[in-house]
Amino acid sequence: MKRIAIDMDEVVADTMARYLEFYNADFGLNLTREHFHGRRVFEVIDAAHIPTARAYFEQESFFADIPVMPGSQDVIRELSDQYEIFITTAAMDVPCSFSAKYEWLQRHFPFVPARHIVFCGDKGIIAADYLIDDDPKHFRHFRGEGILYTAPHNVRETAFRRVENWDDVRALFLD
Ligand SMILES: [Mg+2]
Repeated sequence: MKRIAIDMDEVVADTMARYLEFYNADFGLNLTREHFHGRRVFEVIDAAHIPTARAYFEQESFFADIPVMPGSQDVIRELSDQYEIFITTAAMDVPCSFSAKYEWLQRHFPFVPARHIVFCGDKGIIAADYLIDDDPKHFRHFRGEGILYTAPHNVRETAFRRVENWDDVRALFLD
């Protein structure tokens, strides 16, 4: 069986949607994903807002209610019949998120066993055939094939195979 490693934030978890919900409410704004095309969040928002905006990641309530990326549950369940699936998240970036992320995965992806959840730093350590991730930096030391999941910040990246959504993932691996 081939093995697929799947990132969490911006791939199975719509973290950006949750982020914009907090940010827009705090600052009375109406930013959408389109404002972030080709740029990372902290390059776009007002520098004076950055301390507040960074602190969202320190709130358990932020992680607890992140929406599930549409289609990800069904497609991962289907993929599980033919591939070995691991969720690999660079949780070391935000250590306080460990428990909330684990609980979120148990709630929304109960069919992914706990032993297939990997909280890691450098994803180069992951031995899988494929890594589906929105951040191309994780493909640098990865020995399988990186599949780039579209997010606003990566729209100009051209070096990798790309999927726009979970229908694309299904088409790539199952059809
Ligand atoms: Mg990600």
